[in-house]
Amino acid sequence: MRVTDYFEQAKGKTLISFEVLPPLKGGSMQAIFDTLDPLMEFKPPFIDVTYHREEYVYKRRPSGFYEKASIRKRPGTVGICAAIMHRYGVDAVPHLLCGGFTRQDTENALIDLGFLDVQNVLALRGDARKFEGKFIPEKDGHDYASDLVEQISNMNKGIYLDDLTATDEASKTNFCIGVAGYPEKHFESPNMEIDLRYVKKKIEAGANYIVTQMFFDNEKYFAYVDACRKAGIDVPIVPGLKPLTKLYQLNSIPRLFHVDLPDDLVSAITAAKNGEARRQAGIEWCIAQSQELKERGAPCLHYYTMGDSSTIQAIAKSVY
Ligand code: FAD
Repeated sequence: MRVTDYFEQAKGKTLISFEVLPPLKGGSMQAIFDTLDPLMEFKPPFIDVTYHREEYVYKRRPSGFYEKASIRKRPGTVGICAAIMHRYGVDAVPHLLCGGFTRQDTENALIDLGFLDVQNVLALRGDARKFEGKFIPEKDGHDYASDLVEQISNMNKGIYLDDLTATDEASKTNFCIGVAGYPEKHFESPNMEIDLRYVKKKIEAGANYIVTQMFFDNEKYFAYVDACRKAGIDVPIVPGLKPLTKLYQLNSIPRLFHVDLPDDLVSAITAAKNGEARRQAGIEWCIAQSQELKERGAPCLHYYTMGDSSTIQAIAKSVY
């Protein structure tokens, strides 16, 4: 079923969903099941699976010299989606990137997904690769997520590349398309107004809902929803939530995700006496965030699990 149909069916009730990331290459599918099995009691209608393009690493050669190599550390997004749908009977939402894909690659990937009965995708640009200062698309790939959304929308209308048009209704895809939104603006964007202009472009190209970057101050989410509505963006906006439970995350989360941490959260984490107390402080913060978002009518709470099901389980138990 389409993600937006779940929202409609819920009639104002706040749903729950989770995001998992593929295991490192060589890891097993069991790691995903170990994360998700304890979370299925909360009945998520859909589960997102992230996509990780190839990245540059330095590999040691037998001679002792290091050489730059391009590898995919976390392959398997599509297979994991199929396995999730098979095991749990819920919808899986693969993330699909502009980065690393030509338009042809994208079309082929979407055909595969359609045949697997995947009905939802989260369309993203992807980040610049390590050692590249800015995002560089493939030759004949997409520059921005809005272009990717347009290609998916065209396929939903039966329009394929190479001037091919679907000859019968059954060969049209029917993807519900999610896109990313940034309550603290995307870090490359000069200001929120410009960022929202491009979010609107994604919706006009055919996107059906937005999932936000993580945030730790709910006011940022509420202000973002207001700004979107004022800008004429009227699709559901799903808050993305991640518990901050470790000391090093006080530096890594702002650095990697370009979000602010409220003073009170920083104080709670730094004042905690040991690892378990820090985890509890992060869980309590995320519970408070979740409860308020639920009370104020968020369509769904989307938790970034990062393989840590016990923390997410503790939060979901208090909220649902
Ligand atoms: P876009 O919407 O294309 O925007 C990128 C930047 O370009 C923004 O600053 C925007 O304002 C600007 N812009 C957009 N259109 C135009 C235009 N026409 N002209 C000029 N400027 C423009 N990354 C992964 O690699 N894998 C994942 O699985 C993944 N999942 C994610 C899930 C969520 C919910 C979120 C919030 C992010 C995720 N990311 C993932 C990270 C994402 O790929 C990065 O944040 C990336 O830098 C931007 O992607 P986007 O789709 O928001 O890009």
